[in-house]
Amino acid sequence: MKLSIRYLILVLLVMITFAEIISLYKFYHKEKITIGHLASLSVKDSILNVYHIAKRALQKENTLDKAKAKIDSINIDNNFIKNIIITNEKGDILYSSNRANSFIPKKVCSNIRKFNAKNIFTYNGCKKEIELYRGIKKHTYYLYTITDRDYIEKLVFDALKSAIEYFIIYIAIILIIFWISFEKLLILPLEKLRQFAYYHTQKPKKFFIKELESIRYSLAVTFDRLEKEQQELYNLSTKDSLSGLYNRLSLFEKIDWLISKSKRDNDKFAILFIDLDDFKNINDFLGHDVGDEVLKIVAKSIQSSVREIDFVARIGGDEFVVVLPKFHHNMEVVDVAERIIKNISKPLSINDKTFNIGASIGIVIYPKNGKDKTELIKNADIAMYKAKELGKNQFYFFTNKLNKTLHEKMDIQQKMKKALKNNYFELYYQPKIDLLSGKIIACEALIRWNDPVLGFVTPDKFIPVAEKNGFIVDIGEWVLSESAKQVQKWENSPLRNIKLSFNVSAKQFQDIYFYDKIYKYTKNIDRSKLDIEITESTFLENYQKNIEIIENIKKLGITFSLDDFGTGYSSLSYLKDIPIDTLKIDKSFLDIFETKNGKSFIEMIVNIGKILSLKVVAEGVESKEQVDFLKELQCDMYQGYYFSKPLKIKEFEELANKNLLT
Ligand code: C2E
Ligand code: CA
Ligand code: CA
Repeated sequence: MKLSIRYLILVLLVMITFAEIISLYKFYHKEKITIGHLASLSVKDSILNVYHIAKRALQKENTLDKAKAKIDSINIDNNFIKNIIITNEKGDILYSSNRANSFIPKKVCSNIRKFNAKNIFTYNGCKKEIELYRGIKKHTYYLYTITDRDYIEKLVFDALKSAIEYFIIYIAIILIIFWISFEKLLILPLEKLRQFAYYHTQKPKKFFIKELESIRYSLAVTFDRLEKEQQELYNLSTKDSLSGLYNRLSLFEKIDWLISKSKRDNDKFAILFIDLDDFKNINDFLGHDVGDEVLKIVAKSIQSSVREIDFVARIGGDEFVVVLPKFHHNMEVVDVAERIIKNISKPLSINDKTFNIGASIGIVIYPKNGKDKTELIKNADIAMYKAKELGKNQFYFFTNKLNKTLHEKMDIQQKMKKALKNNYFELYYQPKIDLLSGKIIACEALIRWNDPVLGFVTPDKFIPVAEKNGFIVDIGEWVLSESAKQVQKWENSPLRNIKLSFNVSAKQFQDIYFYDKIYKYTKNIDRSKLDIEITESTFLENYQKNIEIIENIKKLGITFSLDDFGTGYSSLSYLKDIPIDTLKIDKSFLDIFETKNGKSFIEMIVNIGKILSLKVVAEGVESKEQVDFLKELQCDMYQGYYFSKPLKIKEFEELANKNLLT
């Protein structure tokens, strides 16, 4: 059985009441004795008085006439006495003080000494003999004192009444007050606490009872904490911790929900896939802390560019998605996209550094551009890539045609990304031979892609694609780092004097961190052992800026070669301005070596080199005649299948070691 506090208190109250009744009884009993005692004493006193008065009167005059008045006054004065009767020996009433009650009741105490507090309530009076002598004759009279039992009992009853008043009424009132306060202060709060703990109802107001209040307080604090933790857990599962935006999971849920809603209402919604332009560079060169700051700022600026009902999520490193659940016309979507780009492009200032970041946005509309979330996101991604391809910092609406062409490109691109990650790229080295000594004094690093799925992919196939989609920046970084590593490996070997050239695409100059990357990867090596091959296309755009970059890199000790010379504009006027060290005669001139023109072109280029104090390298040299001719012209170096094809590093090192020994 479970005891309730209410039950316990009830038992307590019953016990108190019980004790109450007992003490009331005791009090009543004591009061009765006191009254009885008082009454018996008073009655006895009056009896003795009457006894003396009556005896004297009878003795003297043989009649009670003179005593009557005194007896009456004693009778009247004493409230406990109802009547005083005096009889003669035979029982004839000689005098009765109260004529209306002139009879002698049955139960009368015959011994005044035995008349006491207890039996005053059972006897109706008391009898005393009056004995006297006249001469020698003895006369006996009886004095009866009849008590007023009604009066005595009334006194007791009054005492009881006042006791009841004190004990029962007042204490009952106290008990009732106690019960009410107990209900109000204990039971009710306890019930509130129970409901609070069980149903998690509204937090109860402060309690009066200290202990209950401390339980309420602890509960409230614990619940607050739990709620906070719950909220945090919810945030963790639905929000992105860095930006505070929704995460990928929430985005997917939102899209699913919107799809079913749009199906039902025959409605549409838009998804904007936002990717920051060149964010990787911020991370690589300004550090991840700055990168995180940028992401937070971008998150805020995206959020501020959209309406309350729009949904913003961050789903990857620098990828954000905005869902517009309601729009009437595509122009509204355009507005939002433009606003987002405009806001993101505002100059950022972090750690006293101010810089700009751009964003490319791909847009899809449900249901036109996809039936489920995967397809929608994929197509938005495709549209985003198109925006990047078109020059970044802009938006692009997805089209089905885009899907097809981009799909193929993305396929190669994805495979390229994978190749870089999985090390499917490799550098081959083609020797450059000093025409005077016949020794290998330099080499060109050429990239090779041996893919487990695609097989051997030649650079002519993937370099142009990589240049178009910008991935050449990542590939170029890898080539740079590999080349620098190679120079470092050779540092204390017989091959230490071999200069290593690597190719840099014009696109890489658009990378604002190009110089920093070169600086970073070549920090620990002798930079004069590195040479960068660029083509004339490098100077087609940003002429002045790129010259500056080259000059800065040259200051580090790295030299530059102008590749494929003779195939482009080859304007002599700019050739004197650009800060290069070496001219590379394009293979196409060697191809027409047999013709008269071919030879004179080659001669001309060698001479230009001499005039401008540039070294000249001929590439694509495939025959002894070509070598001899170049020697005659006092061309500096050559490179080509005649001496060696591009080789794997091991083979190249073997060849070079042998060549240097002989
Ligand atoms: P390039 O810079 O003009 O490289 C010279 C190309 O001529 C190389 O082709 C080389 O193998 C080839 N070659 C050298 N000697 C002979 C010869 O005697 N006869 C014939 N027929 N060919 C010869 P490869 O390696 O296929 O490279 C093609 C192009 O791809 C390169 O032309 C260069 O523009 C680009 N490339 C290669 N590696 C890289 C790289 O790491 N970065 C960049 N940005 N571009 C690269
Ligand atoms: Ca080259
Ligand atoms: Ca070339």
